[in-house]
Amino acid sequence: MLKVIQNRIEQGCKTSSYPKEPINLYHRYRGVPIVDPDCPTEIVQQCADICPQEAIDVEAKTIDIGKCTFCGHCEVDGEGKFVRFSEDFGLGAANREDLITQGNLPDLAAHAKQEFKKLFGRSLQLRQVSAAGCNSCEADTNVLNTPFFDLSRFGIDFVASPRHADGIHVTGPISLNMKQALLDTYDAVPSPKIVIASGCCSISGGPFYGSDAVVGDLNSIIPVDLYIPGCPPHPLTTLHALLKFFKEN
Ligand code: SF4
Ligand code: SF4
Repeated sequence: MLKVIQNRIEQGCKTSSYPKEPINLYHRYRGVPIVDPDCPTEIVQQCADICPQEAIDVEAKTIDIGKCTFCGHCEVDGEGKFVRFSEDFGLGAANREDLITQGNLPDLAAHAKQEFKKLFGRSLQLRQVSAAGCNSCEADTNVLNTPFFDLSRFGIDFVASPRHADGIHVTGPISLNMKQALLDTYDAVPSPKIVIASGCCSISGGPFYGSDAVVGDLNSIIPVDLYIPGCPPHPLTTLHALLKFFKEN
């Protein structure tokens, strides 16, 4: 026992001080895309042609971060003239249309439903549903339970039973085989309930969009309250979105 205590003292506190203090990500991290609206159309077209996700609208000069996998090809190929990816990990949005952006994402806290803040601001239990995800979204969600992020300190936990949950956190493109299981899980959560689409797969189908083996858009089968883009979303993106959506006014 003394050894355990000694070990704890030697190691100190490993938990991040975020959100009290800002946190710096590795410089190669790709967060909110910053688009130059004055970029010549030929360069935007060049970026759109190389985008594997068809996420770039040439006419509007926007990027749909609900489709984007943050592969970075458009930034490299366009030499940063059309888009540069910032280190801002605040990618979450309450409305699907807000994800089609030039980089000016609206304040998530202001767009979140006030009744959810009242109901779940102090205690939120989520049931994770992997609807055919590749396991990266799931792994990066798991990371939130490590001592560094320590999600529980915010009163947010993942629970095993949908009966004990306030909502579902869905990852993956929703294969047809998983669709019924997902709907059953959703039905099993008592109302009022929250639906979170995490990762471009559950928002738009991600790399699987267009496949007839997936639903691809969670919102087409159940109403989504919170979108968390990424492929996978960085744990900080998820944490930021949860704190903004449920706790900040
Ligand atoms: S970073 Fe996004 S928008 Fe750019 S090429 Fe990749 S998927 Fe397309
Ligand atoms: S969004 Fe990307 S990381 Fe997440 S399940 Fe889909 S392919 Fe995998």
